Amino acid sequence: MSHKIDHYKKNRAIRVAAFTAIGACVVAAPFLFSFSPYVLNMFMQAATYSIVVLGMIVVLGYTGQINLAQATFFGFGAYAVALGTVSLGLNFWLTLLLGIGVAALAGFVLGMTTLRLGGHYLAMITISFQQIFDLVAVNWADVTHGPDGIAGIERPALFGLPLADDRAYLALSLCTLIVAAFLVWWLPHTRLGRAMRAVRENELAAEVTGVHTLRIKVIAFTMSAALAGLGGGFYAAGFAYISPDNFNFARSIEFLTMTLLGGAQSAFGGILGSSLLILLPEWLRFLKEVYLAVYGLAVILIMVFLPAGIWGLIRQLMQRWHKPVVTPASAIPDLDLTVDASERSPIFQIEAMRKHFGGVKAVDGVSLEVRRGTVHALIGPNGSGKTTTLNVLNGIYQPSSGRLLLDGVDITALTPHQRAGLGMGRTFQNIRLFPNMSVLENVMVGAQRQNNPVGRSDEALRERALSALKFVGISDKAELIARNLPYGHQRLVEIARALAGHPRFLLLDEPAAGLNQTEKRELGELLKRLRGHGLTVFLIEHDIGLIEQVSDRITVLNFGKNIAEGTPADVLRNPDVIAAYLGESIHATA
Ligand code: ADP
Ligand code: MG
Repeated sequence: MSHKIDHYKKNRAIRVAAFTAIGACVVAAPFLFSFSPYVLNMFMQAATYSIVVLGMIVVLGYTGQINLAQATFFGFGAYAVALGTVSLGLNFWLTLLLGIGVAALAGFVLGMTTLRLGGHYLAMITISFQQIFDLVAVNWADVTHGPDGIAGIERPALFGLPLADDRAYLALSLCTLIVAAFLVWWLPHTRLGRAMRAVRENELAAEVTGVHTLRIKVIAFTMSAALAGLGGGFYAAGFAYISPDNFNFARSIEFLTMTLLGGAQSAFGGILGSSLLILLPEWLRFLKEVYLAVYGLAVILIMVFLPAGIWGLIRQLMQRWHKPVVTPASAIPDLDLTVDASERSPIFQIEAMRKHFGGVKAVDGVSLEVRRGTVHALIGPNGSGKTTTLNVLNGIYQPSSGRLLLDGVDITALTPHQRAGLGMGRTFQNIRLFPNMSVLENVMVGAQRQNNPVGRSDEALRERALSALKFVGISDKAELIARNLPYGHQRLVEIARALAGHPRFLLLDEPAAGLNQTEKRELGELLKRLRGHGLTVFLIEHDIGLIEQVSDRITVLNFGKNIAEGTPADVLRNPDVIAAYLGESIHATA
């Protein structure tokens, strides 16, 4: 194992050193070159905007949540500094902190109230929020000074050192930007950042894997707003004057454009996009009349042809030199799945469960017990309610009536991530991975669920994930991007992701679908190994051969009701079952 950890540690140290070196050069640049005050101011604007756009990277790029009110949070920071220093005579740093706090609070409240919605609704609500801010800033003239804006904002001093000089203030802004960029750059490889990306990639799968998706989205929104507030404070003092039109909807769209243009998935992309959109008009000035058209065209072309932004392209080119490290399976510890199977009581009980969708009675009064340490199969014709049953079991749907007990505890009211935290793992009929994350990261998200006894450190999570991948036999694929894997391997990644979370009750929805004969046989062996470790598996499957091979008990659903239950030998010979479901196919296999 040490080989692997050493590698990651070394890699990390190199990256941090490179970042620090580049950051130091950037901060020193204003003193090394003799820029005109005009250029210095432009750079200062680029630096403060970049800080705001870093917030967009977190909320949109990492977490996948649209935010069309970033200029509002930017405005909170700017107005806090402007009003605080000019109207109230407070210290700049105090007002800066206040601005960040107000912006973060606004982001938190907006997030808490709207992030359950997502998608178009979220876009609409953030736009409304932005419009309200604009109206208030313009019309509440007693406080905000209305459209006239606030002038005479002074630049701060730091440790008694006045920063009124353009170069010094630019250096301070750059310093702040570098620190913010470092944090945002670091974020994706932390627990929080991985959870954010999982939400972006597949929110439902993230929730079921144990991620508290609402909390993650609110955190992202709050962080994004705080960064905008920080940028706003520096912007206000930098330009000495602000007015409402610096913080309107058009500005929010500008921030969005900068994010998408540079590349939403990376801190560097955000900085690149901001700087380009501020500098491009200057470079294109020689075009005179047609300048706006060329500028617009350039932006459109880049967005159309580089969906991952400019930085996305650069990263793609750099990845050609990236050699994935393969940890030899022998260096990975075996997966510890220990579950206490000595207890005799059933692990899971479904009591009179119903799930109706309007008039459709998808599940209509199912009761069953799953015995501990067994493989229990749920079969039935298409549309008989199997997937719906699984979705109610792990909390994606609330049942219309009935109760669910895990180890005797009523879990009917719990959310999917809470159930995952109690040890319920799940895979999906149509695979739901986090496609743009590496295989290892996919499984690490599974490992970082609540209550997983492996611990919280990155090393522990990585080791757990590698062990889970080794268990399903694909640890050599750890560094690959999940979407590039063949179908059969993607199924195994999904199982590994569930296993990494230390489940005691594993729900599998048609795991053999789409697998070839060899893969099916291997899957059968895998399921038997799981049972051997004391795990309880609840399995939906169409492949009768596989069911006969692995299952201890079978429940048959038809039209949302269980029509038979028992050992494979009994159930598969039951005339009702043959009539309802197996029909021709059982005779064909027999
Ligand atoms: P199975 O997995 O056994 O093939 P499902 O559980 O997917 O069956 O579906 C059972 C029935 O419930 C089907 O008639 C299906 O159309 C219906 N159904 C499933 N999900 C929904 C939903 N979200 N809204 C309305 N009807 C649904
Ligand atoms: Mg189904």
